[in-house]
Amino acid sequence: MGRIVYVNGEYVPEDEAKISIFDRGFLFADGVYEVTSVIDGKLLDFAGHAKRLARSLAELEMESPASEEELLAIHRELLVRNDLTEGMVYLQITRGAADRDFAYPEDATPTLVLFTQARALVESPVAARGMKVIGIEDIRWGRRDIKTVQLLYPSMGKMMAKKAGADDAWMVEDGHVTEGTSNNAYIVKGNKIITRHLGTEILHGITRAAVLRFAREAQMQVEERAFTMDEAKEADEAFITSASTFVMPVVEIDGAVLGDGAPGQVARRLREIYIDESRKAAV
Ligand code: PMP
Repeated sequence: MGRIVYVNGEYVPEDEAKISIFDRGFLFADGVYEVTSVIDGKLLDFAGHAKRLARSLAELEMESPASEEELLAIHRELLVRNDLTEGMVYLQITRGAADRDFAYPEDATPTLVLFTQARALVESPVAARGMKVIGIEDIRWGRRDIKTVQLLYPSMGKMMAKKAGADDAWMVEDGHVTEGTSNNAYIVKGNKIITRHLGTEILHGITRAAVLRFAREAQMQVEERAFTMDEAKEADEAFITSASTFVMPVVEIDGAVLGDGAPGQVARRLREIYIDESRKAAV
């Protein structure tokens, strides 16, 4: 039996869910999304994701089809209907269906779709061994702070990594790392955690915000600035963060092995703190 998904006000079996071929999400990638993780049947940092969603919508002059409370209720209903205790809830809002035209339609009704993905997030084999990443050029559009569904280049980046025998790619612009294909990137040098400052060049990760807060609370030093691939290759350790991977150690960058090639101490500690604290605050 397949999943029960949510489409525009209805809970339906996944193979019965339908969207118009004129939906602007399909024609123009005119849509935004969020991925919220679930542990113990509860949502991690729902408020953070809701806030970023509202910002993405506002930047694109799009109306939300539901309030934050309604969105929370839909998330929870999907967890119950799919008996999901660990994994993710994917949410997408598009501008809706309208005859094809580049200009935004004036009266389209936004499309709202949500579905669940069951996955073991806490016990991850990758967390135990650490990831290998390669560097690729960042040729995405300039508003990466808006979480849009135009993810073709990140998909290509993941394929480039796969072909190179790596797990993921870090994107580089003007000589500096922006972020991973679907995550924020960090290096650790002399006990200092270094990650790119916020701006339009990267997505403002919800996990990034939480992890930096926990790091500071644990008296770890944090520096928000751009770093180069050369600097990364010589770092003591490295890691990534995202809603679905939490904190994931990186042990190899463009063939350069970091430290002894095993997940670093800072990354392991932050992963533990993040999972513990998020679990406690889950809703
Ligand atoms: N950067 C990019 C490009 C991403 O796609 C993601 C995850 N969607 C992130 C960073 C991490 O954001 P979050 O911690 O909110 O999942």
